[in-house]
Amino acid sequence: PAVTRFAPSPTGFLHLGSLRTALYNYLLAKNTNGKFILRLEDTDQTRLVPGAEQNIYECLDWLEINPDYSPHIKQSESSISYKQSERRDIYDEYSKKILESGHGYKCFCTKDRLESLLQSSMKMIPRSSVSYDRHCLHLSKEEISQKEENGEKYVVRLKSPDKYPIIKDEILGEINHQLTYNLAERRYDDPVLVKSDGLPTYHFANVVDDHLMNVTHVIRGEEWVTSTMRHLYLYEVMGWEAPKYLHLPLLGTTEGTKLSKRKNDSSIWAMKKQGYLPEALINYVAAYGWSIPKREDGTSIYTLEELVPLFNVNKLTKGFVKVIPELLEHMNKQHLLRLLKNESGILKLANMIINDDDTPQYMKTDITKIQHILRHVGSTMDNWKEFPQRYSYCYLEPNYENEDCKKFLSSNSRDSVLKIMEYTINHEDLINDKKIVKTIQKDFDMKSPKMIYETLRYSLTGFRIGSSILDIITVLGKDECLKRIKASMK
Ligand code: GLU
Repeated sequence: PAVTRFAPSPTGFLHLGSLRTALYNYLLAKNTNGKFILRLEDTDQTRLVPGAEQNIYECLDWLEINPDYSPHIKQSESSISYKQSERRDIYDEYSKKILESGHGYKCFCTKDRLESLLQSSMKMIPRSSVSYDRHCLHLSKEEISQKEENGEKYVVRLKSPDKYPIIKDEILGEINHQLTYNLAERRYDDPVLVKSDGLPTYHFANVVDDHLMNVTHVIRGEEWVTSTMRHLYLYEVMGWEAPKYLHLPLLGTTEGTKLSKRKNDSSIWAMKKQGYLPEALINYVAAYGWSIPKREDGTSIYTLEELVPLFNVNKLTKGFVKVIPELLEHMNKQHLLRLLKNESGILKLANMIINDDDTPQYMKTDITKIQHILRHVGSTMDNWKEFPQRYSYCYLEPNYENEDCKKFLSSNSRDSVLKIMEYTINHEDLINDKKIVKTIQKDFDMKSPKMIYETLRYSLTGFRIGSSILDIITVLGKDECLKRIKASMK
C-alpha cells in the first residue's frame, strides 16, 4: 500500500495544476489501499494568502477528494498535526541533530552581507542560491556562543556536498542536476534549513515530514524537480530511506505559456462558480499527464470512483501538457448527462441549483419541481448554471407582448397554427415529435416541419429551439400548454 501526500502551501487558491497533483496522489493511495495525507506547508509565513488554506479544504471537500489525514479533519487529541507551523518542536529536534552531526551549521550573516555576495557573483553565475561563501562555517565555537549571547539571529544551513545525488524519477528517469558551483569564487549552495524566525524552510520540513509520515511516493509538479537532489541529500545525511519521486509535467496553455496561478482562469473555486461539475474537473485534469484507458465505446468519461481502479503510475507521461478548455466543456456536458440519467444525480443537481445565489427566489421554493424539470428537459443544458434562464418558462408564461414573440407568431399563419397546436396537445397517441409533425403535415397539409416545431415551441416556452415538444408537454402539463397556446394567439 502506498502512502502519499498532497502538500500545498497556502500561498494561493487551489488551481488546475495543484488539483491534478492532489488527484494523482489520492488515486495512487486508494488504488493500493494505502493512505492519502493532506499536509499544509505553511512555514513561510510571509507568503501566506488570506483564505487560501480554507479554500484548499473547501475545494477538496467539494471534489470529494477526501484525505485520510488532514489539518481539517478532527482526529484524536493525541494524534499528530498535519500543519507544519504546528510542528515546530519536531523540526527543532532534527535541526539539532544535523548541527551535531556537522552536516549543518549556524549562519549569522546579515541580509546586507548576503545581498552583496549575490551582487558580486552575479556576473559569473545565474542568480540562484549558489551564492554563499561559507563564512560562518568557519566560525569557532567561542565566536558562535558570543554571537548567540549577543542575541544575533541566525539560520541553520546545510553543508552541501561537492556532488548532489542523482535523482531517479519514476516518470522522468535519471536526472543528474548539479548546480553550477563556482568553486573559484568559493560559492556554495548550502541551502537554509531553519530560518531566523525558527521555522524550517520548505526543503527541511518537507523531508522530515515525508519521513515521519512514512510517505512512500511523492507525486508533485515538475517545478520541484530541482529541489529533489537537495531532498535526497538530506535523506542521506539523516540516514533515512527516500520515497519514490514522480514529477508531473507542467500544465500550459495552447499558446505554449505556463498556466498561471494568479490568473483566475485556472482557479478551481472560480470554475465551480461557473458551474463546472466536480466530476468534470476531476476527469479533465486526470487526462493531463496520464493516458487513461478508454472504455469499450471509445469514451473516457469517468467519475473519481471509477478512476481509482484504473490508476497506474506506469501510465504517467512526461512532456509539457497543453490544457484544452473545450475538453472541459465536453466533459462537463457528458457528466451532466450522466447525472441526469438517475434520480440521485438529479437530486444532486437540484440541490446545487437551489443552493445557488444566482437562482431566483421563486425557483427555490420547490425542489421537486426542479427535479421534475431536470428529469424531462434537463439534457438541453450544457451547464447547470443555465437552469434559471433556460427553464424560466416552467415557472412563468412567456412574454407574448414582446415584439420578437409577436412578430414570430404572427408570421406563421396564425389561424391554422392554433388549431394545429390544440390538436397536438390533445392527441394522446403522439409518441414522438416526428410523429406529431407527420400527423400535422398530413392532416393540415403543411409543408415545413421546422416551422411547426418552432412555432409550437415558441408559444409554449418563448424559445424557438430547445427541448422536444413532447418533453415540453410533459414538463408543463397539457392544461398549461393549452392555456399558453391560446394566450400566445391572442
Ligand atoms: N509545498 C509545496 C507546494 O506548495 C509542496 C511541494 C511538494 O509536494 O513537495 O507545492
